[in-house]
Amino acid sequence: MNMAEQKNMLWGELRRNEPMARHTSWRAGGTVDRAYVPVDLEDMRLFVASLPPHEPLYVVGLGSNLLVRDGGLRGTVIFSHRVLKSVRHEGNAIHAEAGVPCPKLARFAAQHELAGAEFMAGIPGTVGGALAMNAGCYGGETWGIVESVTTLDRAGQLRQRTPANYDLGYRSVKLREGAEEWFVAARFRLPRGDRAKSRATINELLKRRIAAQPLELPNAGSVFRNPPGDHAARLIEACGLKGHVLGGAMISAKHANFIVNTGHARASEIEALIELAHSAVKQKFGIDLEREVRIVGEAA
Ligand SMILES: Cc1cc2nc3c(=O)[nH]c(=O)nc-3n(C[C@H](O)[C@H](O)[C@H](O)COP(=O)(O)OP(=O)(O)OC[C@H]3O[C@@H](n4cnc5c(N)ncnc54)[C@H](O)[C@@H]3O)c2cc1C
Repeated sequence: MNMAEQKNMLWGELRRNEPMARHTSWRAGGTVDRAYVPVDLEDMRLFVASLPPHEPLYVVGLGSNLLVRDGGLRGTVIFSHRVLKSVRHEGNAIHAEAGVPCPKLARFAAQHELAGAEFMAGIPGTVGGALAMNAGCYGGETWGIVESVTTLDRAGQLRQRTPANYDLGYRSVKLREGAEEWFVAARFRLPRGDRAKSRATINELLKRRIAAQPLELPNAGSVFRNPPGDHAARLIEACGLKGHVLGGAMISAKHANFIVNTGHARASEIEALIELAHSAVKQKFGIDLEREVRIVGEAA
């Protein structure tokens, strides 16, 4: 089948110059050349296989760890969260597609009396984003509960992989053998738990988050990874940057490792604050903070 024939078989929606501010939790940034919303996994598979081999391709979940620069993103984005959203329970495991929101997975596990996914309740992204980032909090980490994943490659081929296929670290995931792949589903293995206990843990975690994080304004969670034995927020605060404003962006006055959009922030203002915090901490403490949020695209 040639590319034109394959394209005719696609059912999803292709949008041009899609504003990524609509799809990122910072609510800022430029457009992407092409955005595709597939109708199902098969449609996504055919779409990926129909793309020219060098077309830059990104799968985006809930955009809660992503900044697209104001000049926009060249290439194609596929949105996973409206389509890959099935979740089911099989004995001591949960099978979730990549577009399932992490809080839904946490509640689903609790409901089925499986323990260990409670930490996911406070991560406002998708399962796919959590797999890509090895997202975690309060002692739990996504890959700590993964039994296997299903991935999709450029040729549209699906593969089963296990954690042994990846180099895994704190907020870091790398496929050992090179090729580009995206996550479409995961199987989580969890020990038996107690529904009421898991629900109480989830409620407690959410309360702690509401108390500590500036959730009332658009943000992307922690901007930097915590350096060994310390906290990025403490270091940034010690540089006197809490509450520092640049245009529509501000280093949160509540949590210095968060940058909030106070109204009409440009991605460039958010990025400049990230650079300011990085260089201030480097100068004062000699610590090279590593960015956790991903920044893509071109400056305006
Ligand atoms: C208020 C708030 C609190 C947060 N708290 C935490 C926390 O406690 N712990 C934590 O770890 N993170 C936290 N985050 C960050 C964020 O929620 C996580 O990193 C989350 O896992 C990102 O998921 P997403 O679907 O939003 O990913 P996106 O932001 O859409 O994407 C992030 C990256 O993953 C890639 N990606 C997304 N889906 C896939 C896929 N299916 N296959 C391959 N690559 C993919 C994207 O291309 C991008 O590079 C927080 C964010 C916010 C806004």
